[in-house]
Amino acid sequence: MRGETVPSSNPRYRKYHARVSLRRRVARRGDPCAICGKSIDYSLPRGHPMAYELDEIVPISRGGSPTDPDNVQPTHAICNRKKGNKLIDERDAIDLGIPTSRDWWSE
Ligand SMILES: [Zn+2]
Repeated sequence: MRGETVPSSNPRYRKYHARVSLRRRVARRGDPCAICGKSIDYSLPRGHPMAYELDEIVPISRGGSPTDPDNVQPTHAICNRKKGNKLIDERDAIDLGIPTSRDWWSE
């Protein structure tokens, strides 16, 4: 049973702790960015566009787990942001009922 080794009566704290230790574990592998394939400088501070970010392969909003080691990958902060935008443009627009370019032609 991975990720369930921290004894705590507070499930919220336990989840937070699991996420922090998973973040550290992935950083220790030193893998390149899962989106652009370039190396990540894991010493960059948070908020830097090229800093390390832990990305969920299946988003939490789609039922993915933020603490499953098989569902996370390291990315640059800026690459992760770009990926998010792309998802909204191409897929979530339909889910959210935002008019796509095709609707302009039907009038
Ligand atoms: Zn990248």
